[in-house]
Amino acid sequence: MVRVENLKKFFPVKRTIGEVLLRVPQRFVKAVDNISFTISKGETFGLVGESGSGKTTTGRLILRLIEPTAGNVYFEDINVTKLSKEELRKFRKNMQIIFQDPMAALNPYMKVGEAIKHGLEIHNIGKNTQERKLLVMKMLERVNLSPPEDFYYRYPHELSGGQRQRIVIARALILKPKFIVADEAIAMLDVSVRSQLLQLLIDLKTEFDLTFLFITHDLATTKYICDRIGVMYLGKIVEIGNFKEIYKDPLHPYTKALISAVPEPDPKKKKKKLMPEGEVPNPINPPPGCKFHPRCPYAMDICKEKEPVLKEIEGRLVACYLYQSQR
Ligand code: SF4
Repeated sequence: MVRVENLKKFFPVKRTIGEVLLRVPQRFVKAVDNISFTISKGETFGLVGESGSGKTTTGRLILRLIEPTAGNVYFEDINVTKLSKEELRKFRKNMQIIFQDPMAALNPYMKVGEAIKHGLEIHNIGKNTQERKLLVMKMLERVNLSPPEDFYYRYPHELSGGQRQRIVIARALILKPKFIVADEAIAMLDVSVRSQLLQLLIDLKTEFDLTFLFITHDLATTKYICDRIGVMYLGKIVEIGNFKEIYKDPLHPYTKALISAVPEPDPKKKKKKLMPEGEVPNPINPPPGCKFHPRCPYAMDICKEKEPVLKEIEGRLVACYLYQSQR
């Protein structure tokens, strides 16, 4: 359903002293640096990694909320990156996003029922106001905001964080999209609400025949919803594969470290934490070769010189010389 090919997004870095812009060679943050992957119809593909790894930028590039520096995104074989503004406006109905912060995603001056109805008006769905209102009421009920008339006329600040996120989900789903980007969709909610919202997304996926890109820094959450995952580090994808296989036997040293950091609910099972010391390198000036080499306990000479590319290893894709030389 979605095909991402050699996608890049480089943000120019402005260098100033006070308000004065310096005339120095332009530098860039390589937020997304030549990544490719596919998402099949009906699949939930998780994009995981620490903050600053490029996950959110990737999600926004796929929906073309921001323009790529290079590369292509295909949705059902239509090149999204080549659509005109008018074509894109109509096309957006197919691809919706659920943002991390529902308060920022909603207009504080608009009643939530009206905010959901607005999408129907833009895309000309429903015969008249009455029919649109009825559709909104049904959708409010479906996201468990019941009775719907109690919620339709409220403003976002009158609702809890969980209720606001249900409104954002309702606003996305009412357009009957085929594909949803859930960008840290439950990260800002209380722990008690997170599992309810996760279950709601899982149920809605089946009911509305959806395909998901599930972006998260929390690998533990992907266990419940993702079929496959892609692990990102400093703008690169370092491992892609079936979630269960990666979780059971991670290959890339960064994936191993991420999985070792997932809390173990059973106190008797002790896990050795493998996350290396040190900060993620500065993305303006990333290290040469494998970007993980300054933190990697297995780094070899070649790792510091030449960047590894994704190669198929044991049914998944891994960008690491450890496997390319030995297996
Ligand atoms: Fe470590 Fe080298 Fe593999 Fe990079 S390529 S993860 S530095 S072993």
